Amino acid sequence: MTAGDNVFGRLLGRAGSVPLEAPATPAFGLWMQLDQQGRVLDISSALRAQLAVRFGDTPSPSLRDLLCASSALSAEGNPVDWQRHSLDLDFQGPAGQVLHTRGWIERDREGWTLRLLDVGDLLAGRQLAEHREQNHQLASQMSEELQVCSLARLPEVFNEQLRSLSQRWHIPCVALALLDEEDQGWRIYSQYSAHDAPALWQTGQRLGTRLDSANGNAPVSVSGSQGRHDNPRLHSVFGDADGFLVPYRDAQGIVAWLLCGFFKGQSQTSERDWLHLTAALAAPLLGRLREQRNQQQLERVEALQGLLGTGWWELLPATQEIQLAPQLLHSLGQEDGAARQPLNLWLELIHPADRQELNSRLHDLQALGKPLLTSVRLQRTDAEQNPLWYRVQGLALGTGDNRRWIGFMLDISDIKNQQLQAAAAHARLDNLIASSPAVIYVQRYVNGALHPAFFSDSLTPLMGWTLAECTHDNLAALIHPDDRDLYFERTRQLLREGSVRSRYRVRDKQGSYHWLLDEAKLLRDDLGLPIEAVGLWLDVTEATLAAEHVKQSEERYRILVEDSPAMICRYRPDLTLTFGNTPLANYLECLPAQLPGLNLGQWLSDEQRQAFVQRIQRLTPEFPVSTAEISLQLPGREHAWWVWSDRGVFDEQGILLEVQAVGRDNTEVRRSQQQLTQSAKMATLGEMATGLAHEINQPLNVMRMAVVNVLKRLSNGDAQIDYLTEKLQRIDAQVQRAARVVDHMRVFGRRSEIEQQPFDPAQAIEGSLSLLSEGLRGKGVEVSVTPPAFAVQVNGYVDQLEQVLINLMVNARDALLSKRDKHPDFQPWIALHCEHDSRHVRILVEDNGGGIDPRLLERIFEPFFTTKPIGVGTGLGLSVSYGIVENMGGRLSVVNGEHGARFCVELPII
Ligand code: ADP
Repeated sequence: MTAGDNVFGRLLGRAGSVPLEAPATPAFGLWMQLDQQGRVLDISSALRAQLAVRFGDTPSPSLRDLLCASSALSAEGNPVDWQRHSLDLDFQGPAGQVLHTRGWIERDREGWTLRLLDVGDLLAGRQLAEHREQNHQLASQMSEELQVCSLARLPEVFNEQLRSLSQRWHIPCVALALLDEEDQGWRIYSQYSAHDAPALWQTGQRLGTRLDSANGNAPVSVSGSQGRHDNPRLHSVFGDADGFLVPYRDAQGIVAWLLCGFFKGQSQTSERDWLHLTAALAAPLLGRLREQRNQQQLERVEALQGLLGTGWWELLPATQEIQLAPQLLHSLGQEDGAARQPLNLWLELIHPADRQELNSRLHDLQALGKPLLTSVRLQRTDAEQNPLWYRVQGLALGTGDNRRWIGFMLDISDIKNQQLQAAAAHARLDNLIASSPAVIYVQRYVNGALHPAFFSDSLTPLMGWTLAECTHDNLAALIHPDDRDLYFERTRQLLREGSVRSRYRVRDKQGSYHWLLDEAKLLRDDLGLPIEAVGLWLDVTEATLAAEHVKQSEERYRILVEDSPAMICRYRPDLTLTFGNTPLANYLECLPAQLPGLNLGQWLSDEQRQAFVQRIQRLTPEFPVSTAEISLQLPGREHAWWVWSDRGVFDEQGILLEVQAVGRDNTEVRRSQQQLTQSAKMATLGEMATGLAHEINQPLNVMRMAVVNVLKRLSNGDAQIDYLTEKLQRIDAQVQRAARVVDHMRVFGRRSEIEQQPFDPAQAIEGSLSLLSEGLRGKGVEVSVTPPAFAVQVNGYVDQLEQVLINLMVNARDALLSKRDKHPDFQPWIALHCEHDSRHVRILVEDNGGGIDPRLLERIFEPFFTTKPIGVGTGLGLSVSYGIVENMGGRLSVVNGEHGARFCVELPII
């Protein structure tokens, strides 16, 4: 062994100290001159320098004084006792070191000569060999333990090895750092520190690249405070502590370091031994870790294959077989199938449409080494289901005899079916866009302008143009000249604000313009600079034209309404006007603009307003229209009659929102009707003159008789008070009777009231009889009346109904008298009869005059229709009567009864 062989001798020794087992100078032989008492008289000069005791300081020291305590025993007694013995003597060196010697003693002239040989080397060599042997044993034991333990216990077992290492070499802190594959830095795999030592490292601690600075093939020592300047990075790993670190190197370079901290003791262990020890720890550990990684990798791959529905396969050309991963068999639904199966059998699983192609590609893979990539369907027994798609990929590995052909199969049914569906949806969408009146476009931003870059296929069917024809410059020319400014502004706004919506006309290939609604959005890059605009053209020509038409027709209707001679207005259900045209405004003596807000009801009497509101309330979405004649009290005017037609406007719930009304002034018609009625009334009166004379004559006759009788009695002087009283009372009664007739005539002759009033129809019957009955009886016509057994009310004019009844009775009288002219025995009668139901009251006037010629029945209500001689009949009686009854909401009708005509006046009961 040489000094250079032991790094620790060199590196670990304190300054000035010499390693224990290393002799500083080779000593070949040495002798000492001893006296009889064993005192040293002389030493050969070479040896003298190596001894602690210096001659000159102490004359003739005893041999024992020069020896170490341990070997002092061998020098007990005197030299004479030591003869013929082999002497092992350890001398004390000046710096504390020991000089091992072996020798014998011989007598010479004056005393004794001690002849010694330095056996330090021999002893050290033997110790070292023993030590190395132990080291090797320990190393192989550690190695074996690491190799045989289960992977789960590997960290624990490794830590035990570190502990025994620490204990054997008295190293307070030991750790193994491995190169971390992830971040290419060093990391403490495991560490052990003696219980009384501070832990320098933690398991799992990252050391980064600090250990790289210790790169080398030999152990590297780190010295504490004094060696700090050596390698500061390394030093930081050890803190302030002394220590050393041993590399383990494999094909990849250094992959592990054994770190030993607080290592103060000295060691016989050589560098080579340390390298060997470290390798014994690191190599099996790394192997086991690799094994663990491989196993995890395998587990991951297997799990992945299972999850993905994939698995590897390998062609075995020698046997024309294919080997399949268990997961693949499972995924193919072949759990019971063999892992190795004939290639043909496997190909049978593939859909016939894809089988041949796959086979040929497998062939290419084997023959030409051409990588395989294809998608195939599986042959499925159930044709209803979606096909199962697999991606088959394969490649050739290795060369020559080591050539292998492997690959995998992946279930891509989901993706494939989605792809097919997406393609179908895409095609449908393309179709839809192509056939829709919408064009999707993209305009690219180039130097502040937008250049058309894409149009959807719908452009050509819609406009006739292609993308090539719609370049940036052409497009502007296609815009309608009136809309060009609008288009340029649209582009500016789009670039400014990022989105725009506008509408302009674009010329198609045939030369006609389309109204296009343009909605565009600007896309910008990360820096906010415009890239392109994406937009949509919607052909809104029809809608635009329709809107134009609506506008035009609205305008026409507005003019129509404004210029219409009829009154047109709209009002809310509470009769507040929202609109009225000029004619209405004229009637109401204001401007059309002043009409909204006015209430129609203010020109109606209470009854009229009530009736009006009731009528409006009866409007429904099914029957939204109602027409009536209303009478109004207009400002500064007489009464006005308007024929008024209302149409209700309803919301979805059927609630009346407003009413649109059209009115026509009927006042003139109404007036002439009134005049007609009045004249007809006067005519009736005239006609009744004879009857009336009779009516008045009758009481006059009675009175004359009474007066004659009274006068006769007075001339006889037989005028009793009682008698006179009785006669005067009779006269008074007759005067009253005559007065009543005259009164009634006056009432009858008056103009009708302006507004209809409720009244009992019995009043009219009574009135007409008071004027006619006496006259009729005078003519021999029997009048029978069935008075109404009830009281009802109808709306209208009592005098006008009376006139109707008079007309009917006068007509009956005429028919009866003309019949009696022909048949003198004829007994004429007129019967008046009343009946009613819940809604109507009917007054029937019947005679036994023989009726009306059926051919004339249709015509008798016509004005001026008469069968009477000129000057007698006016032909107005029935037509006026008809108008009166109709005006009261009723109906006048006639049938030929058993004996003659039977007229019926039917009136609604209120
Ligand atoms: P006028 O009595 O002036 O002729 P009207 O309009 O009252 O006019 O009657 C029209 C016609 O109807 C009469 O001319 C007559 O022919 C017929 N007529 C009306 N009432 C009767 C009746 N009760 N019986 C038969 N004919 C009648």
